[in-house]
Amino acid sequence: MSERSEYRYLIIGGGMVADSAARGIRELDPDGPIGIVAEEETPPVARPALSKKLWTDASFAFDDAWLDTEADTGATRLAGERAVAIDRDERVVRTEHGIELRYEQLLLATGGTPNTAGLPDDDRIVCFRSVEDYRRLRRLSGDGRHVAVVGGSFIGTELAAALVQNDTRVTLIFPDAVLGGSKFPSGLASRFQGMYERHGVTLVPSARAAGAEVEPDGAVRLALSDGSEVSCDAVVVGVGVTPNIELAGQSGLDTDDGVLVDARLRTSDPRIFAAGDIASYPDEILGRRRIEHVDNAVEMGHRAGRNLAGADEPYDHTPFFYSVVFGHRYEAVGTLDSSFETVEQWDGERGVVYYVDGDRVAGVLLWGVAGRRDAARDAIAHADASDREALRRRIPTKDDD
Ligand SMILES: Cc1cc2nc3c(=O)[nH]c(=O)nc-3n(C[C@H](O)[C@H](O)[C@H](O)COP(=O)(O)OP(=O)(O)OC[C@H]3O[C@@H](n4cnc5c(N)ncnc54)[C@H](O)[C@@H]3O)c2cc1C
Repeated sequence: MSERSEYRYLIIGGGMVADSAARGIRELDPDGPIGIVAEEETPPVARPALSKKLWTDASFAFDDAWLDTEADTGATRLAGERAVAIDRDERVVRTEHGIELRYEQLLLATGGTPNTAGLPDDDRIVCFRSVEDYRRLRRLSGDGRHVAVVGGSFIGTELAAALVQNDTRVTLIFPDAVLGGSKFPSGLASRFQGMYERHGVTLVPSARAAGAEVEPDGAVRLALSDGSEVSCDAVVVGVGVTPNIELAGQSGLDTDDGVLVDARLRTSDPRIFAAGDIASYPDEILGRRRIEHVDNAVEMGHRAGRNLAGADEPYDHTPFFYSVVFGHRYEAVGTLDSSFETVEQWDGERGVVYYVDGDRVAGVLLWGVAGRRDAARDAIAHADASDREALRRRIPTKDDD
């Protein structure tokens, strides 16, 4: 570990925002010392690969997932160090091992902690987020073993698809009546669920995990909310994350469900910025919100880094998010909530779905359609959804290439 205890730029959290922020700083300040306080032992990694490419793309090596933050930016990473207090008057961060780090500018980038669904802490129960979780799930799966996946949103559906394609028997437990039913219109949700059925995933709809016991022989008995039980070799949980905002709250910074920042990503303390999964920011199109997706982490982290180094630029990027299952990629901007009215346009397997809230568009789903994110942003910002036919034709279902 470095002996340095003063940094011009200090970042708390060693994830995707830390990487993009360090790169943003370096665009304006080639040599100001950057420190990264990182609870995780492993360096910043492209997390999306942990639930997709590392399982499904044989040409993608593990080393391709590392972000190479330290080599590319010269930042010093204090690995395995958890920040536990911020003295804002002294401008000092304290870690749980008693290290004191002075900063000139501070960035909070602490991400989220995966929810446990109330299941016990055990080696065979993986609440999935990190490289270590990926390695553990690899050890616990394959060779025909049986893994129960809890959660039908992004992480759950991606891991269920990944595991079943890697010699693993998969049972997927999810609360919707149809997989994807709370996000997608009903026809698409049926087709989405059909992909899992065709690949041999056992689906348990309308259910949640209610408890688990690990037997002495290593078998896991997973109790479900519908009274049934799944016996398996391991459980992987993907039921959302809780943003790590306690440190900000304890330090007296303003928070709601995230750390409140202004358009320049400053918290209520002008020397402290926040970005990524923890930041509640004023999106130019979508309004104030907190987004737990990679495009937001990369773009917001980059902008925060530039602002730490004095740029004073607003974060004016409305992020998209994406997922890939069984080779089908979808992207979206805004809110995907099937309780909104949906307007759909399909051309074979490619489609655009508009989520309509009164005469406005709340979200756009691009299913298998590339290069139309700006058109989706434009629809949310400007479309008059009262003319449903005009809306249906607004974004072509062909790629913009
Ligand atoms: C498996 C997986 C797959 C994903 N796939 C997609 C995808 O396909 N599409 C998409 O749009 N998004 C995806 N995401 C979401 C995306 O990766 C996150 O939005 C992004 O990583 C957020 O970056 P962050 O820096 O805010 O948080 P993180 O990358 O989680 O980094 C936060 C870091 O801070 C550390 N930390 C927390 N508290 C402290 C402390 N007090 N002191 C020191 N360190 C601390 C944590 O240990 C962690 O390492 C995925 C996420 C995961 C987990």
